[in-house]
Amino acid sequence: MQSAQVLALNELNNKREAHRTELERRRAEVRRRSAEYAGIEADLQAAGNRLLRSVLNGSRDFESIKEYIQGKQRDKIRVLKGLDLPEDYLDEKFDCGNCHDTGFDENGLKCRCLKELTAKYIVYNSNMTELMKAQTFENFDFSLFSPSTDSKGRSKLDIVRSGFDKAVRFADSVEQGGNILLRGSVGTGKTYLSSCIGNRVLERGKTVYYQTAYKLCEILEKVRFKDDDSEDAAQAVSEKKYAENADLLIIDDLGTEFLTQFTAAALFDLFNTRLMKNKATVISTNLDFEAVNERYSARMTSRILGEYAVITMPDGDLRRKKFE
Ligand SMILES: [Zn+2]
Repeated sequence: MQSAQVLALNELNNKREAHRTELERRRAEVRRRSAEYAGIEADLQAAGNRLLRSVLNGSRDFESIKEYIQGKQRDKIRVLKGLDLPEDYLDEKFDCGNCHDTGFDENGLKCRCLKELTAKYIVYNSNMTELMKAQTFENFDFSLFSPSTDSKGRSKLDIVRSGFDKAVRFADSVEQGGNILLRGSVGTGKTYLSSCIGNRVLERGKTVYYQTAYKLCEILEKVRFKDDDSEDAAQAVSEKKYAENADLLIIDDLGTEFLTQFTAAALFDLFNTRLMKNKATVISTNLDFEAVNERYSARMTSRILGEYAVITMPDGDLRRKKFE
């Protein structure tokens, strides 16, 4: 797993490479079709070297060499026309005219294309699936929740609305840290709401890492038993690092992981590291509070239940079955 900017710069590098290869192919094609062009190319190359020397030596023939080059370039265009090819057939091409696909403009500042590509790879690194990317606050369907009130005068819809508002506030201020425990049975929309949070945070240009608790523990195990040379282990090490440092970590389905003494300790360390760094975390789980108490150590339970704001998705509403 590489940083979004490294991935973006790699993509720009590949673009430049592809343009270079295409230009080479075109040159070879024109050389094949026109012996005159082959001569012009050689003359231009030699004149370019002379021009460089004259600049370095400060000699006076600079202008005359320039004129000579311009003449050769006119010859080149004439040859291209004779072959029924466009004038710019042998010009260097770029996807981005502003930075010539280097990612940086002439003042050394990041070009817009690099920023856009970096944003694309931040989303890629988030590990969120295509389905999850469509699960946004804007698309949230409140009509799935019943408005009929219980004996205390509260409806499922009220409960969901209050959780939703809490989730929006959390996502909009994620840089201040904070943690959410999303509770509820299967099919209550927990994963949906955590995707909404993740998407909002990504829109705000922050980094997100989504992972199921099951897979996360596998990663932590791989880091522990790493064979330093394997690619798999290097991948696990970088994913663990991202889990520790992303602006938002979303752990889905806590309680479904294969829990050993080691994974329990490693999970605790991860939660703790993020709390110390004041980084925001969302955990979703089917477990109720007693089950959390039973499954994890007292240390971990007090961390999770003590430092996390709880959003509970209401149970037992058939209309919610459309979720998940
Ligand atoms: Zn650019």
